[in-house]
Amino acid sequence: MAKLSYSSKINKIRSFALILVFAGILLMYVGIMFKKIPWLMATFFILGMLAVVFSCVVYLWIGSLSVKAVPVVCPNCQKPTKVLGHVDACMHCNQPLTLDKNLEGIEFDERYNKRRFRNEAISKMKQENE
Ligand SMILES: [Zn+2]
Repeated sequence: MAKLSYSSKINKIRSFALILVFAGILLMYVGIMFKKIPWLMATFFILGMLAVVFSCVVYLWIGSLSVKAVPVVCPNCQKPTKVLGHVDACMHCNQPLTLDKNLEGIEFDERYNKRRFRNEAISKMKQENE
């Protein structure tokens, strides 16, 4: 069986926000190295600040997404997790999960979150069943 490289959306956004914080700190650090060139230092500082502020916005966004996500108990590891969108992965074990009855039993694909791709797959499956 092919190893799934899919991970929970909330986890993905969370790691993105974390990277952003580090990038911001790094940019400000680079700014300090240019302290002899004030405009360059200011530019790096502003960029760094923006990255940090943006990561805060992303964290707030995760919070609101988390509220919208449907809480479920993962059938694989029995831990509570959250499903965002039509297909998502368990936050703990990356078990693919779906809330869409039409997608049950279809091979997992991240693209099922896109309406067009999902509808094509469903109609294809219905044709095969006829
Ligand atoms: Zn799980």
